Amino acid sequence: MKKKILVTGGAGFIGSHLCTRLLNEGNEVICLDNYFTGNKKNIVGLIDNPYFELVRHDVIEPFYAEVDQIYNLACPASPVHYQYNPIKTIKTSVMGAINMLGLAKRVKATILQASTSEVYGDPVEHPQRESYWGNVNPIGLRSCYDEGKRCAETLFMDYHHQNKVDVKIIRIFNTYGPNMNPDDGRVVSNFIVQALRGEDITIFGDGMQTRSFQYVDDLVEGMVRLMNSEKGFTGPVNVGNPNEFTMLELAQNIIELTGSSSKLTFKTLPQDDPKQRQPDISLAKEKLGWQPNIQLREGLAKTIQYFEEALKNNN
Ligand code: NAD
Ligand code: UDP
Ligand code: UDP
Repeated sequence: MKKKILVTGGAGFIGSHLCTRLLNEGNEVICLDNYFTGNKKNIVGLIDNPYFELVRHDVIEPFYAEVDQIYNLACPASPVHYQYNPIKTIKTSVMGAINMLGLAKRVKATILQASTSEVYGDPVEHPQRESYWGNVNPIGLRSCYDEGKRCAETLFMDYHHQNKVDVKIIRIFNTYGPNMNPDDGRVVSNFIVQALRGEDITIFGDGMQTRSFQYVDDLVEGMVRLMNSEKGFTGPVNVGNPNEFTMLELAQNIIELTGSSSKLTFKTLPQDDPKQRQPDISLAKEKLGWQPNIQLREGLAKTIQYFEEALKNNN
């Protein structure tokens, strides 16, 4: 059945893929964005669709619409961008969550929060299960993002318990793919853009820290499955690809796949940079029947192709 669906942060990297998927399934989509890190280019192909509506709006302000489902993605996700104006970042997470939960409560919509593996901070439990409470610095450079997302989770569960709002919390692990901004600042886009331009690849620290990278199509599948999961199942649920790589391995893969002559250059490791990260996805498998299908080299090849085009068009 056709649903009316609100996607906040819909002009961003993940949001643009989600809007496309939801429209392709025959839904009506309202895409809300303030274009802080998002870009109209990501959704320009959707604008002619009469079931797609684009709204310039900031989630820290109240918003009124009649919808069946809300995906709350509005929030800068790259450390460079979320640290640019940390007060605004935490306002976006916290006040954005309150406004979208207020909306969900009023119209009885199901609401999904794009949470993050960052709620685990620099984890001492490895791999991370949803039951792990995390190891987060409350007063560091990453805190505006980590604590904002943790507080949003708290609000989601409190609206669920106190106001019976139908909530879903997804903890997203590092995701990459087409529509990332070349200036996004996260590791996959940085390395690919540097490799394609023949510039030095910037390894922070010794490059032995790890991340587990998932391709965006796998994530979007997990988000849609969670949104439509059995009533009362709130999560939080980890969605990520458990294959774990060091940043040196990531750089090596990208150099090979691009055939680049770029060399590595080593920079200072940013404060509180997590040393390791890998999702335990048992819960997603059990409750959503979900697991990732696209492995790193296949996903990187698609992403490299996207950036080749984007850089050619001076995007
Ligand atoms: P992104 O920066 O490309 O997208 C975020 C979008 O939110 C942008 O379009 C931006 O303009 C918009 N936005 C920011 N502040 C806003 C505000 N106050 N009002 C309205 N719109 C606002 O990042 P992304 O990777 O697509 O991330 C989307 C969501 O997923 C974020 O909430 C992020 O925290 C979460 N997430 C992403 C990853 C990842 O690896 N990509 C991992 C964990 C969680
Ligand atoms: N809100 C919104 N859209 C709605 C309903 C509410 O943006 O359709 C906002 C509202 O402005 C408020 C927040 O959501 O600031 C929380 O709403 P709630 O009803 O939970 O709290 P209250 O209005 O009682 O503070
Ligand atoms: N990183 C790096 N070079 C870069 C950008 C990031 O070595 O140009 C490292 C960063 O220090 C971190 C990892 O790559 O250890 C992932 O960084 P990203 O910002 O993509 O995500 P997050 O740290 O939020 O998981």
